Amino acid sequence: MLICATCAVERDEPVPELCPICTDERQYVPEDGQKWLTLDELARVGQHIKFKENEPGLIGVSTQPHVGIGQTAQLVVTPQGSLLWDPVGYVDENAVQSVLQHGPVLAIAASHPHMFGVQVEWSRRLGGVPVLVAEADRQWLGRHDPNINFWSGIETITEGLALHQTGGHFVGSAVAHWAEGAGGKGVLLTGDSVFPNPDRRSIAFMRSYPNRLPLSGAVALRIAATLDELEFDRIYGNFNNVIAAGAKAALKESAQRHAAWTRGDFDHLT
Ligand SMILES: [Zn+2]
Ligand SMILES: [Zn+2]
Repeated sequence: MLICATCAVERDEPVPELCPICTDERQYVPEDGQKWLTLDELARVGQHIKFKENEPGLIGVSTQPHVGIGQTAQLVVTPQGSLLWDPVGYVDENAVQSVLQHGPVLAIAASHPHMFGVQVEWSRRLGGVPVLVAEADRQWLGRHDPNINFWSGIETITEGLALHQTGGHFVGSAVAHWAEGAGGKGVLLTGDSVFPNPDRRSIAFMRSYPNRLPLSGAVALRIAATLDELEFDRIYGNFNNVIAAGAKAALKESAQRHAAWTRGDFDHLT
């Protein structure tokens, strides 16, 4: 297995010359070219994993220094077990033991293929935990394993914790809904289909962030409508970008704003 240095997604060997995820129009291969890494190489240069509680029952898991895109994974802890969401592109024995301190891991899932990280490696080291991959994004899987299970629509992890497919950034893009989060008001864990902005009160809807390619207004409104069926007050993106309260209204208003701008309602301001 090798890890793409740019996106930190694992891939079965022999690897192709260029990472298929990074050559797609949503990503990029850096100017100095494609690099592939091993876990051993990363360990040798002092790579480690940092854990930080975001709120009771939710622990941010990040690579120090960052590997690849550098997302913060989230460990959602419930009385029945936990979900590892958007797994990072590195794992070691210390990280496995830290995760298991919070109880058994029920599943590993990513919001979309940019966030696959070393999901199969995490699964194997955690003792063969199911890796849930959206059926619609099957083509982007770089590493195959018998513990990968494909899903579509809604996938329940345990009581009060489920994956919801929204599409958007990828066809299989998903959020995790955690009903007990935010003091029982509900939390969404999102990837790039629903991206909390730096203003901490609005949301972006993009096909590509590095290459700045927006989704249509219709798709932004569709995503907001899909999520309107859920109860939530807070959204955690995967780069420590958070809408701490009022997130449901922020999502709806942001989708309407996105639709208005892409429709041309504000062209007189340009
Ligand atoms: Zn890549
Ligand atoms: Zn992405």
